[in-house]
Amino acid sequence: MDTGPVSAHRPAWLTGARLASLRRWVAVPASGGKTTHTPIAPYDALPTVAVPVCTPEDVESAAARARTAQEPWAGLSYGARAEVVLRFHDLLVARQDEVLDLIQWETGKARLHAWQEVLLLGTVARHYARHGRSYLADRTVRPAVPLLTRARELRLPKGVVGIIAPWNHPLYLGVGDLIPALLAGNAVLGKADGQTPLTLLWARALMAEAGLPENVWQVVTGDGPTIGSAVVDAVDHLCFTGSTATGRAVAERAARRLIGVSLELGGKNPLIVRADADPDLAARGTVEAAFANSGQMCVHIERVIVDAAVYDAFTAALLAATSGQRLGQGLGYGYDIGPLATRAQLEKVGAHVTDAVAKGATVLAGGRARPDIGPYAYQPTVLADVTDDMDLCLGETFGPVLALHRVSGDAAAIAAANRGRHGLSAAVFSRDTAAAEAMARRIRAGAVNVNDGAGLAIGTVEAPMGGRGDSGLGRRHGPEGIRRFTDAQTVAVSRLGPIGPPPGRPAESFVNLGNRQLRLLRRLGIR
Ligand code: NAD
Repeated sequence: MDTGPVSAHRPAWLTGARLASLRRWVAVPASGGKTTHTPIAPYDALPTVAVPVCTPEDVESAAARARTAQEPWAGLSYGARAEVVLRFHDLLVARQDEVLDLIQWETGKARLHAWQEVLLLGTVARHYARHGRSYLADRTVRPAVPLLTRARELRLPKGVVGIIAPWNHPLYLGVGDLIPALLAGNAVLGKADGQTPLTLLWARALMAEAGLPENVWQVVTGDGPTIGSAVVDAVDHLCFTGSTATGRAVAERAARRLIGVSLELGGKNPLIVRADADPDLAARGTVEAAFANSGQMCVHIERVIVDAAVYDAFTAALLAATSGQRLGQGLGYGYDIGPLATRAQLEKVGAHVTDAVAKGATVLAGGRARPDIGPYAYQPTVLADVTDDMDLCLGETFGPVLALHRVSGDAAAIAAANRGRHGLSAAVFSRDTAAAEAMARRIRAGAVNVNDGAGLAIGTVEAPMGGRGDSGLGRRHGPEGIRRFTDAQTVAVSRLGPIGPPPGRPAESFVNLGNRQLRLLRRLGIR
């Protein structure tokens, strides 16, 4: 199946036999998997390995198999499903080195940031295995007619859930939403991103080893507009993570079928440095939040809003911390920042910086590609004097590029943070955490970190995570992160038959009875 030269960074354990054991999970029975796609490895811009590509007919037949498998899966107890997830958790932790290699090979990110995916996914798996049952438990509610009726709210699986996720966190985003979807009793039709199919297939194989029945999780591959659209057309709920533009297109398509969507989209996330902030601490938090994953992270920081009182001290600390970042590449823990994932990413980041500089931005650090390090390597970059006419001012760069903005006072900082249409994540650095928390309420963002740049809120998996404005709809994590994969059903039971005027009695006597009940309840202070 492989043709031509392959990337020299291919992990040694990925033998032909292991590769075949991963490829077998691509759902291609209709087409026979004759067409293939080969991603390009960011470390050397050479092909990785070919993966079969699905047709829309493959997607349809995968959905049909998932549908058949869903009922028996939902028929198991929550505990039995959780056992599978907990075994997956244990295997993931034990075998992490393999998936770290794959994530690095397919995305180029530093190994520490690949490991953060393992940490987050393991945490999500454990959380929902332990707490999901209570999030979905039947709920007894106050009935319509006290004593004569009773009612419960149930949570039923949607059926087949579609999951479409991008390449930037192929393990966490590809599997982190799948786990609550499965635990809620759904089958899943997941589309692997074209850049990172091996990471998702590795997770699929591991889930099989953990005991997931064969057809409950189908993996399809292929380009977004064709195969992604076929997924939207085949499922009962769609969980999409990606850009705002694609999210909007996906939501429109889903709307035509009247299926629910959760959309985790882009950001242009601000970090506020208050006048009382410790400049060194704020600089450390900024560097981690801006340059981790080479800035290819939905919650990463691209705008730093600094109070004039601390601007010079913070900028000096930021530049020192930035110059300490080791840009490099290779499997292993030797570097802080890896290259960008694709040529398209390199071109977009370069174009944003070139545009900003041409319009008057000042480069305080970085500002150029490093082909001497790797074909897609780009320096961590800090810009000042960024103005509204620059593409990167309010548009997502999705790269290691920070813009500094100087303001005076909290009100101006909040106004600057709330500029633009995104609202995913934000951060505030301050010695006065109460003041920072009070500011959080006024910042339009799905999550606000205080004295941390980006990871703290997303790592708090008991709390919801998601976007406002152009950053999305719906939430992952916490109770909402699993309930979105269910339909609420109300079961109301009458002890005496249909509620209404008894046969042969005038309607007025029933109305009088009802009015007496309304008045009595009001007098008793009930409802
Ligand atoms: P993208 O929207 O181009 O692609 C995302 C996924 O959608 C890919 O798997 C792609 O194949 C698929 N796709 C493309 N067109 C489609 C279509 N018409 N129908 C269905 N599926 C389609 O995004 P990208 O550039 O690959 O990823 C980066 C973006 O994702 C950034 O904007 C980033 O902020 C965002 N993101 C958001 C979150 C979050 O949780 N909010 C997390 C990670 C990334």
